[in-house]
Amino acid sequence: MSKKAILIICDGMGDRPVKEYDYKTPLEAANTPNLDKLAEKGLVGLMDPISPGIRPGSDVAHLAILGYNPYECYAGRGSLEAAGAGIQLKPGDIAFRANFATVNEDLTIVDRRAGRIKTGIKELAEAINQIKIESVNGVSVEFYPTIEHRGVLIFRGEKLSKNVSDTDPHEIGVKPLKSKPLDDSIEAERMAKALNEFTEKSFHVLKNHQINLNRVKMGEKPANIILARGAGSYFKLKTFQEKYGIKTAAIAAVALVKGVCRIAGMEIIDVKGATGGLNTNFNGKADEAAKAIKHYDFVFLHVKATDVAGHDGNFKAKVEAIENIDKMIGRLIDQLDLNETYVTITADHCTPINFKDHSGDPTPILIHGPETFHSEIKKFCEKTASQGNLCRIKGIDIMAILTNYMGISEKFGY
Ligand code: ZN
Ligand code: ZN
Repeated sequence: MSKKAILIICDGMGDRPVKEYDYKTPLEAANTPNLDKLAEKGLVGLMDPISPGIRPGSDVAHLAILGYNPYECYAGRGSLEAAGAGIQLKPGDIAFRANFATVNEDLTIVDRRAGRIKTGIKELAEAINQIKIESVNGVSVEFYPTIEHRGVLIFRGEKLSKNVSDTDPHEIGVKPLKSKPLDDSIEAERMAKALNEFTEKSFHVLKNHQINLNRVKMGEKPANIILARGAGSYFKLKTFQEKYGIKTAAIAAVALVKGVCRIAGMEIIDVKGATGGLNTNFNGKADEAAKAIKHYDFVFLHVKATDVAGHDGNFKAKVEAIENIDKMIGRLIDQLDLNETYVTITADHCTPINFKDHSGDPTPILIHGPETFHSEIKKFCEKTASQGNLCRIKGIDIMAILTNYMGISEKFGY
């Protein structure tokens, strides 16, 4: 009979030895009785999300870990964000991540997040959606607000390409950038032109909008331009159902990760109070995962808090995030039948606190299940993982290993 599996990704959890903390990593310094218990009775090793030394974004790392070769299928971040927001792209669509921002009269950016605007967003979006693209034939544009200042911008029409640069300069005190084609194609030229026209028009439509006039009166920053980044095009993946014939669910708060899971055909389970931040609802995630594995063959569970602490360069916050994850895992395994369920825990990449970004180091991984060998490792961390019984694998290997243990993989050859 086939077994079930839960795959837990602690975003950016891996780290490097930190001199100020006696050369310990946050995972090493954290008190993690539940991780340690699973590690001792399971397979432990190192995992290169892509391959040694390659620094991955969370998008490509998740694709690889879920068994998709990102070099073949990755089509830009915008399309994953769109999927995460529940927007169905059509072939030919180009999607961007978009922000409401604040510019002054000469278009200098004052705030890339428009004071983290929370109200009036629907009205502003309606105004933006009146914009017609005139400089490029047969192209329309749609704006979907998501959370606060964030949204997704979609260009529809024929002959468009994702190979264009961002209008978001990612800094303040400068003007929005002109989008440029990144290759010689007519499609890239059309896309850049349409985006530039849209950006200009967004300012004209928004600057005198009543919501913004009111915001200025109240001393708040007006949301008077849309900045776009991370172009992505429509793409399709073979779903888990198609690949392995299994029913899958995902628990994730971050739009990008939700997007990858949705395109992989997973049911998205929303957890109340799951924020994608340090203060997420860890208990709620554990309980929902425990409930989900009763109805699904495979459950994917994502926690962002460790990556947030890594980007902040905050050792103590990362230790605390790991300890919260450990408690979450304890609560989860208390509700599982470990004779029927494989539990895998790893990170999508390292976000070392001294580097404050994703590095190309391998991350520790553990796989615990009814038929795994026991590593006898007492403490789960980067150092012990390098001596573990799983040795060193790549992200793309994980699903093959799990489906093999689950008893649902196909034989290669006769
Ligand atoms: Zn990540
Ligand atoms: Zn990150």
